[in-house]
Amino acid sequence: AVPVLAVDGPVASGKGTLAAQLAQGLGYRLLDSGALYRMTAWAALQRGVALDDEAALVAMLAGLDVAFEPQGVRVNGVSVGDELRSEAVGNAASKVAVLPGVRHALDGLQHSLRALPGLVADGRDMGTVVFPDARLKIFLTASAESRAGRRHAQLLQRGISSRINDLLADLRERDARDTQRATHPLVPAQDAVLLDNSDLTIAQTVDQVLQVWWS
Ligand code: C5P
Repeated sequence: AVPVLAVDGPVASGKGTLAAQLAQGLGYRLLDSGALYRMTAWAALQRGVALDDEAALVAMLAGLDVAFEPQGVRVNGVSVGDELRSEAVGNAASKVAVLPGVRHALDGLQHSLRALPGLVADGRDMGTVVFPDARLKIFLTASAESRAGRRHAQLLQRGISSRINDLLADLRERDARDTQRATHPLVPAQDAVLLDNSDLTIAQTVDQVLQVWWS
């Protein structure tokens, strides 16, 4: 089978950065599954579809032509990059992500990326639901404080100022929604390797994962 390295974890745990570097190091493809939930929320906001209208969201997704790009996704021929990264879209994404129909509708797209030589997939349920046979499952965590601090720095780099306390509150709200939802809640897979990177650099985190991968 095509090897999969699954990286799951809470919002702003650094899994996107880790997954991208692992994919580059291994020469594998990369699936940023959060981008699909963000794309769904973005498209819904644009079209005025309510974020809790499951049937309408599923119908909307069926009519979208979605392709992956290095910096985001292309929806019906339009590149959606930076817009997907906003806090508003991320928050909206976690609302549509509670709906089983939406999750199911995104399955095919996620599986379509599994191809040789391999795939690094990051999200919330890569190891538990989408790729249960992944060769390695990493569950990446970091303290809420260090996640909020990193998100703050990330936003600043893009010229957006934010308040740590607002980010912390937002993270906690998103964590609660992701871990408490009925369908595919955020939990480590039973066979996942737990990695807390609060006090690790990105390079150290990548090294630790690659050591396990090659062991
Ligand atoms: O990882 P990212 O912040 O881009 O994900 C946005 C939202 O999409 C998450 O808060 C989560 O609710 C949802 N998501 C999910 N399952 C995934 C990836 C993301 O439910 N595999």
